[in-house]
Order: sequence, then structure tokens, then C-alpha cells
Amino acid sequence: MPSAVQRAGVAISVQKIHTEKETTSTPAASKPSENWVNQSSTPPLDLQLNGYCGIDFNADDLPLASIRGAVDSLRDDGGGQCLATIITDSLDRMCARIARLRAAIESDPVIRSTIVGIHVEGPFINPEPGYHGAHPRRHVQVASTETAQQLVDAGGGWVRLLTLAPEMDPGLQTTRKLAALGIKVSAGHCNPSIDLLHEAVDAGLQLFTHLGNGCPSVLPRHDNVIQRVLACQRLPFVMFIADGVHIPAMALGNYLKCVELDRVIAVTDATSAAGMGPGRYQLAGQEVIVDSSGAAWSPDRTHLIGSTATMPDVRRFLGTNLQLPHAAVDQLTAWNPRRSMGW
Ligand SMILES: [Zn+2]
Repeated sequence: MPSAVQRAGVAISVQKIHTEKETTSTPAASKPSENWVNQSSTPPLDLQLNGYCGIDFNADDLPLASIRGAVDSLRDDGGGQCLATIITDSLDRMCARIARLRAAIESDPVIRSTIVGIHVEGPFINPEPGYHGAHPRRHVQVASTETAQQLVDAGGGWVRLLTLAPEMDPGLQTTRKLAALGIKVSAGHCNPSIDLLHEAVDAGLQLFTHLGNGCPSVLPRHDNVIQRVLACQRLPFVMFIADGVHIPAMALGNYLKCVELDRVIAVTDATSAAGMGPGRYQLAGQEVIVDSSGAAWSPDRTHLIGSTATMPDVRRFLGTNLQLPHAAVDQLTAWNPRRSMGW
């Protein structure tokens, strides 16, 4: 039976929930004792994790023991599995970081069972102000199949997902090539027209990366990238940073009325600051300042740099602030991410 849950005027249809067991329509928040860490037989899969518990996956000095330490903390905290995410930098540095993660994955079975792949976010993103976000503009570049192949080769089969801007992919050739290789392509940090978005879907685009972020804070009110993605219902999956900081609950609730729940994926986009307290951290050589609310800012406070949320935090936010039923929380954090990867 279709059901709906309401909070603060937000009603979200949950009629398309994929369940392994019987779907429950009981609002999660009605069970205060629920443990959001360990409710699902299928662990969460975070498609966007830049680091964890003091360890930055984008660091150049990253011993195997540090990666293992981050993985152990992630598992202890109920974080489940993840795609370790490498963001825009010089091509050489990106390839070296990807290769380092590959070596760690291939050398340690515990790391391999937790970091189940690599998400390459950039460098083919929109360099305009507001769109490139925390990605250094000087290293942003137009997509080429040759450069994409270098990034993929560095990962030795572990690159599962690549985020690019369709308008930076001439002829959508890189999208087509990656799709043909079985690597999922996500649009993000981008500003494509609605026509280009549809063409990209035809070329193999499968996801959209953190809708509502990676774009200017002030946009044309009717025709903007957020509205276009909401309108593009042929796009199979849309990711949101569901930490309560990147998108207020009211706005995320509105987005979830436009994107059916079987197309929604919740990510943390967490940095090394995840699982830590307020302080100063690093992401790919940039300083990240975490305030007392847990928001992770650039030093000039003009934009957020990743999050500090753990996957249990995201699950709790979805269950309590959006009052999604437990099965829907599992859907957004565990099942949809795997379906989007073809697993
Ligand atoms: Zn991003």
C-alpha cells in the first residue's frame, strides 16, 4: 500500500520502496530507541567518502596503516561500505592518489571489503564561480577520452564512478567511453541545459552528484540546474548530501517529492573531519574548518567543503527530520546505491 509521512508540511510518497522484507510505514521517529547504526541486514554504501576519522583519502602521504585505521573506524561506527572519493587536482596527483587506493584495496582484504571502489570527482567539471566549489579551478579541464583512460588505468578496475560536467565533455565522448567500460558516469559541479542533460542520459549518464550543492548559492529562480535535474525524470539516480547542513530538511523534503525514492541516493560527502569534533582538518591540501555545529567550511567561510557526517548520522537525519520509514532509509542508504552500481 502506498503510504505517506508528514512533518512540517512535507509529505513524501513512499510507494516505490524496494524491500527485502515487508515494508513498514511506521515513522522511524516514533521509535526513539532505534539504533540507526545497525538496523539493516544490508550495510550502508556511501558513494562519496573523501576520508574518515582524521584520514584524508586525497593526502599524498597516506600509509597503508592509515587507510586501514580509517576503514576500521568506519566499520566500528556502522558506516558500512564506501567508494573512496578522489577530487580534482593535477592529473599526476589524482592518478597517484587513485593508484595508492588501488594498492591498499588489493593488499588488504578488510580494506577491500569496505572500500569497494573509487569515485573520481573531477577534473572535468564546470570552472565557473559557484560550480567548481572546493575543487581547485586551476586543475579543472575539458574532458578527453585519453585523460579519462589515464584515471581509469590508475585504478586498475577499481574506479566505479566518475563525476563530470556534461558541458565539459565535447560530444559526450568521455561519457560514452566510460559507460562502455562499465564505469558509471554522474553529472555534478555542472550547469548543462535541459537538452544536454537528456543527451547525456542517452549517452549513458546514470547519476547526478549531490544535487543542491556544487552550484552557486544564488541562481536564476526558474531555469537553473536544480530545476532541470528535477525535471529530467529519465536520469536513473540522484544523489543528495543528507547531513542536514548541505540541504535543509525542508528543501530536501521538497526534492524528494520530485524525485521518486527509488531514484534517490543519500551520501555523506564526508571528509577526514567525519567522526571527529570541531577543529581544523585537511582535504586534498586545503584547510577545512569545522564549527561547533559540525559544518565544514573553507577558511574564508564562503563555501562548505564536504561534510562531517557519518552514515549513521545521515540515516538518523532521514528517519527523524524527514520522518522516512525505516525501509525508505535503507533504500536510500543501502539498496539504491548498490542498484546504481549494478550490484
Ligand atoms: Zn562535489
